[in-house]
Amino acid sequence: MTDDDLPRKTVSIPDEIELLRLLDFYELQDPEHTRIHEFYDNLRAGEFTTTRCEECETVHFPPRIVCPECLSDDLEYVSLPHEGEIHSFTEVRGTAAIGMNEDTPFVAGTVDLGDVRLSARIDDAGYDDLSIGDPVRLKTVEIDNSIDQDRVFYRFETV
Ligand SMILES: [Zn+2]
Repeated sequence: MTDDDLPRKTVSIPDEIELLRLLDFYELQDPEHTRIHEFYDNLRAGEFTTTRCEECETVHFPPRIVCPECLSDDLEYVSLPHEGEIHSFTEVRGTAAIGMNEDTPFVAGTVDLGDVRLSARIDDAGYDDLSIGDPVRLKTVEIDNSIDQDRVFYRFETV
């Protein structure tokens, strides 16, 4: 049997491809789409939280559904401070993630909150205005261009 004996298969290529519903940086935040929806519910209510492992007491960020240290799924949500300090920072001047392109230039950095250090945008300040160690505080933002959910995310701003 050779290839010529096989029935020829054809495929059709669509003229247009429908893009994914949410082609941006932010995930869907409801229980149907993420198991860390409690983090977003808390954030929407003005509380900044993350998970802590009840077995080994590790505090994670971002929140987890399984502890990366001991693999326990016995986790609880704990509050994080709303104020911390800049550990490092840079300015995004060129291409940014989808949904942020029109925001450039903006400052992104790592913020030290004591138990955790996390990456975040730092608003209301330019690169030249900032120094390592500067105090910053949590800021909750509504995500623009949200197609079918009211989504929120965290940023920081100078104090
Ligand atoms: Zn653990």
